[in-house]
Amino acid sequence: MIEVKDDWCKGCNICIDRCPVDALEESDKLNKRGIRPPQLKKENECNYCRYCELICPDLAISVIPDEDIKKVEKKTLLSPVGGIKK
Ligand code: SF4
Ligand code: SF4
Repeated sequence: MIEVKDDWCKGCNICIDRCPVDALEESDKLNKRGIRPPQLKKENECNYCRYCELICPDLAISVIPDEDIKKVEKKTLLSPVGGIKK
């Protein structure tokens, strides 16, 4: 799950642009700054890499992995550290 502190978001869209699996989009709601904060897309490809949490300049995103969701294989552009086990 991705938790966004909506009113902290300034709408720079770095998280949306840099997500390695294109899992984020602008939401329909406006925050108190008149910005549309990010949300996960309906077809959620998030792999909980936490990159968006790391790069958000306003600390507006928290990534909270759901243990059940984590078990589902997700596509990623990044190889796991140490290579792929065979
Ligand atoms: S990186 Fe942070 S401030 Fe920028 S759009 Fe995403 S949540 Fe908002
Ligand atoms: S945790 Fe990673 S995959 Fe998920 S939305 Fe953030 S950057 Fe994208």
